[in-house]
Amino acid sequence: MRFSVLASGSTGNAVYVENDQHSFLVDVGLSGKKMEQLFANIDRDMKNLSGILVTHEHSDHIKGLGVVARKYKIPIFANAKTWDAMEGHIGNIPTDLRYHFDMETVKTFGGIDIQSFAVSHDAVDPMFYTFNEDGRKLAVITDTGYVSDRMKGYIAAADSYVFESNHDVSMLQMGRYPWSIKRRILSDVGHVSNEDAAVAMSDVVAEKPTQIYLSHLSKDNNMKELARMSVTQTLESCGIITGEFLHLHDTDAEEPTALVTI
Ligand SMILES: [Zn+2]
Ligand SMILES: [Zn+2]
Repeated sequence: MRFSVLASGSTGNAVYVENDQHSFLVDVGLSGKKMEQLFANIDRDMKNLSGILVTHEHSDHIKGLGVVARKYKIPIFANAKTWDAMEGHIGNIPTDLRYHFDMETVKTFGGIDIQSFAVSHDAVDPMFYTFNEDGRKLAVITDTGYVSDRMKGYIAAADSYVFESNHDVSMLQMGRYPWSIKRRILSDVGHVSNEDAAVAMSDVVAEKPTQIYLSHLSKDNNMKELARMSVTQTLESCGIITGEFLHLHDTDAEEPTALVTI
């Protein structure tokens, strides 16, 4: 398998995953035009996509969904409640592009097993995915207020992670957001902080080469350097020295990460 975090952050999210036969997008949180640029940057064409997997109905995950699916005739997979919640926000999607991907189930596409699992977030039925092929595993988990033991079970011992590291708690607390929004972000159905993400990482990583892509960074309440530093320090306090078997990588709101093989 190969993957690239095409874009990540509160301004729009999309992750690309492929093997030799199939290719997928997790979410289309940017405009159709921007998505085309991102695909050109990794030297791929959206017309070859086998499917789009939707995590939840927030606009930073579905902004370009309808446009891209219609233009390139790509099947969309989402659970029933998310389909309902998206109605009126993604335009008209023809029946032959509508598919269900139920919560906590597995779908197999030419050698890739895709597992969906529930997260804790203020959307109707949010779920994320792991991709599994020949004993290799990619786990994508952003947009969750905390990482439960159940979620940890699904994402344990992956080779690569697209892992939310949303905010620095003190930046958020001192920042300009109204209290109601701060409370939402910090709640169990908001987003995980740098420190909480690192503690969860320390619980799930296996002692083998592991790549972690710090994702969904808040534009206002985080910075790449700060996220890296907080995660590194927290991991260290949990007994994991980064650079030994675990490696951290940045993601960007506008630039894709290099397409790498898992
Ligand atoms: Zn989001
Ligand atoms: Zn969200």
